[in-house]
Amino acid sequence: MPSGRRSSRRPWAQAHPELDAERARGGRRSESAGDGEWTVQTVRSADKVYTCPGCRQDVTPGTTHVVAWATDDLLGAEAGLAGRRHWHSSCWAHRGRRR
Ligand SMILES: [Zn+2]
Repeated sequence: MPSGRRSSRRPWAQAHPELDAERARGGRRSESAGDGEWTVQTVRSADKVYTCPGCRQDVTPGTTHVVAWATDDLLGAEAGLAGRRHWHSSCWAHRGRRR
């Protein structure tokens, strides 16, 4: 696995033919991005406050947001899941452009 954050020319928003089916199953989808492979789960509302890693602002209860974790974590899928983060949906969508 390549290290570092090499820039990728791969488009961020690739078409996923299976996306609609996955969305229908409960809002969980897989994303391939320049920084790895991710599982992204849409959360309609949380019961506690999280800090969004994208903007360092609170993700307040009742806000629809996403939970994302790496599926290609070096320490394995469970480690990736343990490191999951709650993001504002828009912050997640735009995270790659901040680097
Ligand atoms: Zn945010």
